[in-house]
Amino acid sequence: MPDKSRTAARAAAGLDENMEVLHMKRVLILFLSLAMLLSAAGSLAEDAAAESAGSAAKPKIVVLATGGTIAGVGDPGKVAGYKPGTLTAEMLLWGVPEIDEVADIEAVQVCNVNSDDITAEIWLTLANTINEMAKDPDVSGFVITHGTDTMEETAYFLNLTVRTDKPVVLTGAMRPATALSADGPLNLYEAVCVAASKEAVGQGVLIVFSDRIYAARTMAKTSTYSVMAIAAGEAGDIGIVRDGVVYLYEHSGRKHTTASEFDISGLETLPKVSVLFFSVDADPELLKYAAEHSDGLVIAGAGAGEFSEKWIEVINGLTIPVVISSRIDDGIITRENLLCENTIPANTLSPQKAAILLRLALTKEVTREYLEELFLQY
Ligand code: ASP
Repeated sequence: MPDKSRTAARAAAGLDENMEVLHMKRVLILFLSLAMLLSAAGSLAEDAAAESAGSAAKPKIVVLATGGTIAGVGDPGKVAGYKPGTLTAEMLLWGVPEIDEVADIEAVQVCNVNSDDITAEIWLTLANTINEMAKDPDVSGFVITHGTDTMEETAYFLNLTVRTDKPVVLTGAMRPATALSADGPLNLYEAVCVAASKEAVGQGVLIVFSDRIYAARTMAKTSTYSVMAIAAGEAGDIGIVRDGVVYLYEHSGRKHTTASEFDISGLETLPKVSVLFFSVDADPELLKYAAEHSDGLVIAGAGAGEFSEKWIEVINGLTIPVVISSRIDDGIITRENLLCENTIPANTLSPQKAAILLRLALTKEVTREYLEELFLQY
């Protein structure tokens, strides 16, 4: 039984009401705390689920670093006079933490050179490494960081020798990592986005540079200084990357990757092909020397693959394969353009790319007819 006098006293003092309010407040606080706790636990669980779903969904991309300006270091802020091939793959990736949101990365340092020092041996290592790692079902694609000087050659070589549908994407930079507005980080990020995308599957080897996507066969370096240093002449680019989203609107043409007939798995080096550039009064003795020291020649002729009477005389007497290309970027060389019967038209391949196709072709027994067919197919 409540003590009546105490109840009356408390009622008089308004204590009972206060106690009730206090009690209500406590219940409310308890309820709110519980609700907050439950919602915090819920969102924690959601976060954990999203994180694990996210990491499970993130594709694995292998970044193969070879050097070039993208890994170059120079005077802080300056764009010229730097040393290419200085930073490692890990350092390049460390500079672009946004990549972690796109893919799980495995970094491989293949070499760290100016791309003018790339060799057939490095190409073979690259292609064999990709062919081996592509067998791993966990690997979704590849990015190769590379100097821009010979990027088009490495890209075309890989286009003919990697045996996978998985994306293989080359990128680089025109400004060293230490320059003001270095272009390497965004190029690397966009290359990873393309390599991780479904759009790039089965497209052959691609190049990502300054927001644009190019096919290996048609891409070329076209400027000695601009960050827009890559283009694809009459063929044009085949896509665009914006904030990590890949928009592809064309396809790589001609045979490549899984459709290629070139098997480099047992090779230690490639046959030697020399490229000769014709200009007014070019010495025909150079042709004779090159022919004696090479397995094949490519001529960068003037116009539609032309050269002087003196060159015609020497070339007519050669027995090694001679492919005729042009020192002009755009256009085509067909059989009708040939000045010498014993030569092979490069079709639309640049001299440096024609040399790669010829080097690979010469790993087999070839006839002039077979070579001519190859230049129509690849
Ligand atoms: N010389 C450099 C290289 O090709 C140029 C560049 O990367 O942009 O390695």
